[in-house]
Amino acid sequence: MAKLYFRYGAMNSGKSTALLQAAYNYEERGQAVLLAKPAIDTKGADQVASRLGMTRQVDFLIGAGDDAGELFARHRENVRRSAADALIPGGRATDVACLLIDEAQFLTPAQVDEVFRIAVLEDVPVMAYGIRTDFRTQAFPGSRRLLEIAHALEELKTICRCGRKALFNGRRIAGRFVFDGDQVAIDAEGAPVRDEHFVTYESLCGVCYLEESGGVLTPG
Ligand SMILES: [Zn+2]
Repeated sequence: MAKLYFRYGAMNSGKSTALLQAAYNYEERGQAVLLAKPAIDTKGADQVASRLGMTRQVDFLIGAGDDAGELFARHRENVRRSAADALIPGGRATDVACLLIDEAQFLTPAQVDEVFRIAVLEDVPVMAYGIRTDFRTQAFPGSRRLLEIAHALEELKTICRCGRKALFNGRRIAGRFVFDGDQVAIDAEGAPVRDEHFVTYESLCGVCYLEESGGVLTPG
């Protein structure tokens, strides 16, 4: 029986790199994978972009109102059809071995339920990579649902500037930490630092987060 995996970590913990490595590992064995991500993440639009410089186009984007199971079924059918059309029998993967989802925190709770069904009912492993909490230490709705129902939780670790393990994601606008604002604000790498809308994130341990937030965990 296939499982739904939630591989979570703070910003900069190498989630996209790990996803691309997992895809490579399947394909090296001649197996096909599908890559997907929620459409809300405008950074890199339809790309999985690793901080190490690797990028790869996703097979499909999941819009806020989309049925993730239906999208998966349609793209799975394409994989099966192209395998059947292949001139050399046995030279192509015949089915999808794994669904890999980047930025999974932006899935809706209903879409998390849909990808759970893909794992359990379609018997295709689903690996969802994402951030656990937002800049105010609150779970993203998609992450909360993944924490509730994923068969397996795996933490991808990164370190804070002080050397401790990072737990949280501090948001900066024009270089200064902020603790109120919308839950979703995509970082705009390459924008001018003085731009008042320039959003960046820094992975912080509990000690450094509390230092910056004035001692509260749900600030703002
Ligand atoms: Zn720290």
